[in-house]
Amino acid sequence: MSDLASLEQRGLSELAACADEAALRAWITKFFGKQGEVALALRKVGEIAAAERRAYGQEANRIKEKLQAAHDEAQARAKASALEASLREQGIDVTLPGRPVARGRLHVATQVLRDIQAIFADLGFQVYQSREVEDDLTNFELLNMSPHHPARDMWDTFHTTTPGVLLRTHTSPGQIHVMRELCPEPIRVILPGMCYRYEAITTRSEIMFHQVEGLAIGEHVSMADLKGTIIAFAQRMFGAERKVRIRSSYFPFTEPSIEVDMDCIVCKGQGCSLCKRSGWLEIMGAGMVHPAVLKNGGYDPARFSGFAFGMGPQRITMLKYAIDDIRQFWANDLRFLAQF
Ligand SMILES: [Zn+2]
Repeated sequence: MSDLASLEQRGLSELAACADEAALRAWITKFFGKQGEVALALRKVGEIAAAERRAYGQEANRIKEKLQAAHDEAQARAKASALEASLREQGIDVTLPGRPVARGRLHVATQVLRDIQAIFADLGFQVYQSREVEDDLTNFELLNMSPHHPARDMWDTFHTTTPGVLLRTHTSPGQIHVMRELCPEPIRVILPGMCYRYEAITTRSEIMFHQVEGLAIGEHVSMADLKGTIIAFAQRMFGAERKVRIRSSYFPFTEPSIEVDMDCIVCKGQGCSLCKRSGWLEIMGAGMVHPAVLKNGGYDPARFSGFAFGMGPQRITMLKYAIDDIRQFWANDLRFLAQF
């Protein structure tokens, strides 16, 4: 019986000395393994004198259960403290600032396109979307440019493998589409979109670029309406202090035709590479819709008149942000694009 008492005492004191789960595992092997001390003590029952055997057996079983229970309790404590320690060491610091998400933005060309659309929306113009792949008839002939018209030299373009199908050189063919769709209703639309020209790429010209066409048709539309519209646009876009000049020009699809210039925003009229040393930048071409074009759109030129204008939003953007090289727009250089 004294052996049992000492077993209980050693078991409990060694258990108390176990610092972690590994030590507990060693303890369980030592006391509860096949050759463990508890097993040996139980096996001894057979050697005990018959008179004491019952008492010994009961005591041995009591110790076995007590040690087992004490071990389970110690193991639960060890597990809890190990979890606590790992949380302390690898804890989540909820006060750390989050990782910033890289946010995209609209391309500067799109931003300016939307600015232009907003200004004309205030003037009562709707947006009319027209196709980028056109036929020769709509891109040229219906706009008063017959196949051998010398003005076609100004609009050299990319031709597809299908004869007569080409990438539009300007948004003007959209005039024909919108007129034929809405005739004989009055029209007030802008036609924004991409245009293509087969020409040398320089700081001022690209092979692809946006254009915004404007078209107004009604019974009493005059040159005064055109001038008022252009001036209202220029003042909204660039501020009332910008200088604008209007001079006569020539386009096959307008008569009379004008060009609108604004003082160069880079050099303020002093002359620089952007304005070719002239101090002025052409911002749009315009004019009264040619009677032949009105007729091709279905309108009777004796009753209806209209004005049209076309501008390059890239050129407008260059003016607005003092950009001196048009090639930046489609170069996909983030150092440029991220500035807007
Ligand atoms: Zn200049």
